[in-house]
Amino acid sequence: MMGLMQQRPLLISSLLEHAELNHGEVEIVSCPVEGGTHRYTYADCARRTRKLAKALERLGVWDGDRVGTLAWNTWRHFELFYAVPGMGAVCHTINPRLFDDQIAYIVNHAEDRFLFVDLTFVDLVERLIDRLPSVEAVVILTDAAHMPETSLPRVACYEELLAAEDDDYAWRPLDENTASSLCYTSGTTGEPKGVLYAHRSTILHTLAASLPDVHAFSSHDCILPVAPMFHANSWGIPYCAAAVGAKLVLPGRDVSGPRIHELMLQEGVTHSAAVPTIWLDFLNHVESTGDDTGKLDRVCVGGTAPPRSMIERFHRLGVQVRQGWGMTEMSPMGTFGTLKRDMLDWPEARKLDVLVKQGRPAFGVQIRIVDDNGRELPRDGRTYGLLQSRGPWVTSGYFKRDDTPIDEDGWFSTGDVATIDPRGFMQITDRAKDVIKSGGEWISSIELENAAMGHPQVAEAAVIGVAHPKWDERPLLVVVAKGKPPGKQDLIDYLAGHVAKWWLPDDVQFVDELPHTATGKVQKTALRERFKDYALPTA
Ligand code: ADP
Repeated sequence: MMGLMQQRPLLISSLLEHAELNHGEVEIVSCPVEGGTHRYTYADCARRTRKLAKALERLGVWDGDRVGTLAWNTWRHFELFYAVPGMGAVCHTINPRLFDDQIAYIVNHAEDRFLFVDLTFVDLVERLIDRLPSVEAVVILTDAAHMPETSLPRVACYEELLAAEDDDYAWRPLDENTASSLCYTSGTTGEPKGVLYAHRSTILHTLAASLPDVHAFSSHDCILPVAPMFHANSWGIPYCAAAVGAKLVLPGRDVSGPRIHELMLQEGVTHSAAVPTIWLDFLNHVESTGDDTGKLDRVCVGGTAPPRSMIERFHRLGVQVRQGWGMTEMSPMGTFGTLKRDMLDWPEARKLDVLVKQGRPAFGVQIRIVDDNGRELPRDGRTYGLLQSRGPWVTSGYFKRDDTPIDEDGWFSTGDVATIDPRGFMQITDRAKDVIKSGGEWISSIELENAAMGHPQVAEAAVIGVAHPKWDERPLLVVVAKGKPPGKQDLIDYLAGHVAKWWLPDDVQFVDELPHTATGKVQKTALRERFKDYALPTA
């Protein structure tokens, strides 16, 4: 017997409709690239977003068309997040920090018909436009007063497009499986690959991501997403905020520690999400000024593993840390690190042992670890294997490619190596290609890096495997020092207190800077290339 409940489609437009009707007075504050502060409400936003949908129709945007964006986190980008999918097209967020060739590849692969770009990226598009045959026009996200001189052949001004429309527009009653947005992985592992989200997957992700053991969003919150809207939809926060009616603070271009801190105090931010490099800058700033963090209650850290010391530093400020693990391919949420009830009374050190793990899956995502033959491995917290995931917001296949690593039961291979403990907590030990294979055993580069980052004279650390005649590979620790570099032996002795003896790096190298990807991760491929002929003293 079938149930007798309504089959209302799960659509992104319904989030904004909900926010307009029930949280119409709540503010969205942005930092425009033109300077100053922009403030308006969900009600204003919804009206403008309907005008934008009409403007898109007038441009000739139609079902399934890809509309590219090159933009920071601002209210105009937020409007595109809703208007483009709401009228049946696909909002393709492009990461402007990628190399020119990657951006050209992505725009061409996606066949973007229009690009909506912040003033800061006009140069970039001018440089590339001859290589982007699918792009019919470029819309600059600004008003008439700030329109730049440009060599672009077909340009329009965003505010003028909106001014020409009224807001009498009804959102399309789309099939909930209609494509809504498109985001390419940054290509840390080869060519960028497109992940095509749907309305349904986005709504389910929004509901799960807002849960108490995940971000715990509510109408009491003021959320500052530092995670860029061009990378995995700012981890889904622009949708969650509308769903719960939270105040939003969109930081624009300047995401330095001091600026984030200033915004937090000014706007009463309770929750913020960013990668560890941003939080490092933030913590250094706050600690050096001795300031407090205002109403900040919790931060989400993701993208790469935060060092234990970072969690401790936030705790000293009275701020909770919620580590998130995910991937562009997973919308991006997979697991979240929050304590369980009985853990709340544990001593701090034991709590930290849990919080450094990547966390438990939110309901909706399944994870498991398998061996090289795809056989499931035990959830004992010790055995590590290849991490797989599946669920309604996990990709079922990359856009226009047939090489997505998914098995017949729908398990997607994440490329990460992890353990899962009996209580559900997953811990990444490495990306499969970064793991160091020493004498047939695996050494976790991440664990070594985290341990090294706990040393007071280490600002940043990366560990790579270097060829060794006897052991195949042995770890080399590459360090950016904080102030005066520590002695090599000092550092190794320090690590000896934290990791197994046979894991200890065979050597330490000091560098001024580590190479980073466009999404702020250490670029291990570049590092391996740089040290490919390195002769270890133990070899
Ligand atoms: P990109 O390769 O484009 O940066 P993603 O953001 O999709 O792409 O990166 C996903 C990968 O980032 C994961 O597979 C994992 O290796 C790493 N990652 C994400 N969050 C964490 C975390 N909290 N701890 C460790 N690694 C993480």
